[in-house]
Amino acid sequence: MEMNSANVEAVVKQVLESMMDGKGTSAPAGNTSIPKTAHVAMLTELQNYDIKEFPMPEVGDGDILVKIEGCGICGTDAHEFKNDPFSLIPVVLGHEGTGEIVKMGKNVKIDSAGKALKLGDKVVTCMIFKDNPDITMFDLNKQNVGGADVYGLLPDDEVHLNGWFADYILIREGSTVFNVSDLDLKSRILIEPCAVLIHAVERAKTTGILRFNSRVVVQGCGPIGLICIAILRTMGIENIVAVDGEQKRLDFAKRMGADKSVNFKDHKGIENLAKAVEDAFDGHPADFAFQCTGSPVAHSNIYKFIRNGGGLCELGFFINGGDATINPHFDLCSKEITLVGSWVYTLRDYATTFDFLKRAKGIGLPMDELITHEYPLDKINEAHQTNLKMEGLKIAIINK
Ligand SMILES: [Zn+2]
Repeated sequence: MEMNSANVEAVVKQVLESMMDGKGTSAPAGNTSIPKTAHVAMLTELQNYDIKEFPMPEVGDGDILVKIEGCGICGTDAHEFKNDPFSLIPVVLGHEGTGEIVKMGKNVKIDSAGKALKLGDKVVTCMIFKDNPDITMFDLNKQNVGGADVYGLLPDDEVHLNGWFADYILIREGSTVFNVSDLDLKSRILIEPCAVLIHAVERAKTTGILRFNSRVVVQGCGPIGLICIAILRTMGIENIVAVDGEQKRLDFAKRMGADKSVNFKDHKGIENLAKAVEDAFDGHPADFAFQCTGSPVAHSNIYKFIRNGGGLCELGFFINGGDATINPHFDLCSKEITLVGSWVYTLRDYATTFDFLKRAKGIGLPMDELITHEYPLDKINEAHQTNLKMEGLKIAIINK
């Protein structure tokens, strides 16, 4: 790469900035020369991204420029790619991203959890602050971040570097940012989807029914169900039965910590399926169930797996998947089921997720294998097509 005077100036400025950061911070690990332009994958029409080049933006006193290392493709991205339900086109998507700080404004000292920030640190973002104290207070947070702005789901503007499907992103003042330098790249890419499950398990715990020795059924073994099992396992819950229609996913569920698995394709009708789940628990119905599919029929079925006085957490309907039929007398009232719904996460759950990822690795769960496919940024259209075929689990864009 050519070192012109602008580049040299940028490098000198960064070194000076890192020295002024106090604490004798070490030089950033990566190549710190910042190019004059950045590249983004912009969704310009349905099922088509174009790689676009834009000038590197100014970094304001409260801003952070991040060189992106990778970003997972989420179900939300798949919906946008296919149908643009949020009417965002043209848009730079990608909200499960992470990268390295290459430049930051003089006012940036700490992350949203109070941890020091310096050049070379690896970061993730969560939401962009709005004037809603219930979702912006890190410690006293009560409300989930649903409806808040996040990078990767923002309308295009004059900065353009608004999503993680790019090589650089500008994190603007007023955004949440977390220093996650102690996590490896794959763990960092999994933070956002894992936070969804940390939140769901926290919701489940509010019922008082989920305990150390509970019998738990997890229905649906896509990334969400698999991560759910991993979290239960790190909490010490071992009596887990996984339900899915694909043997490959059920096998993976066992490696993630499920004790037994039930393939619903092997059992005709809900009575037989419920019996199979009961058999897997040595003749007992489940104390608690997590519904992790987007199928209305699966919602209707899951009540049949749960004992009288048991609990249910429904988290499969991230978007509207239609109506489900239940029998309020048999399914809810007479069984006295305690039901909680769960959607996205709170800021607090986001920080809890970092510890979960370390613990999951610590007990040897194969979290890394959730990322089944990796593509470079210029193959992002191919990556999304692979995602739509639902052959893998988590598909990630990795910048080399
Ligand atoms: Zn997501």
